[in-house]
Amino acid sequence: MQLQDGWLFMSLEEISIQVQNCKKCRLWQTAQHGVPGEGPADAKIMIVGQNPGAEEDQTGRPFVGRAGKFLTKTLAEYGIKREDVFITNIVKHTSPENRKPYDDEVAACVPYLNQQIAIIKPKVVVLLGASAKETPRVPGIEYFEIVHPSAAMRFTKMREKFRAQITELVKRIQQPN
Ligand code: SF4
Repeated sequence: MQLQDGWLFMSLEEISIQVQNCKKCRLWQTAQHGVPGEGPADAKIMIVGQNPGAEEDQTGRPFVGRAGKFLTKTLAEYGIKREDVFITNIVKHTSPENRKPYDDEVAACVPYLNQQIAIIKPKVVVLLGASAKETPRVPGIEYFEIVHPSAAMRFTKMREKFRAQITELVKRIQQPN
């Protein structure tokens, strides 16, 4: 281990364990499980949402609800397998009534995401919907904002935009470094 930005440099597994035991903000008190994220350590694509919902809280896994299934299905249509992508959230515990995480909760939790990005070093970090505004950018990593799948599910115009953005994402992934 080495120090990085005041944090011990950890493995993805160590981050998962830390998230499960974390009490750095109030959200652990009302959640059932921490949801650290999942996917391969050498993923080319990381997908980042805002925070886990009810089904994610129950299972401890990210994007397993309706929007997650829609995202997984749409990615597969464009040749991107979910198991090749690292999927996570900015904030790793759900919030009461699924409210938007407060600024201090984001600030407390975001170092986990930054560590995950530093370990995986993906080609592109895909930011879903509102998560785009709250994710600090790590230098040297490309960020790509797309419509949140829950909006794409509900609104035809958003769905068209979502599909166009995934088409663009595929092009970027295929470009040489
Ligand atoms: S939301 Fe993040 S900072 Fe807050 S308790 Fe959970 S893991 Fe820790």
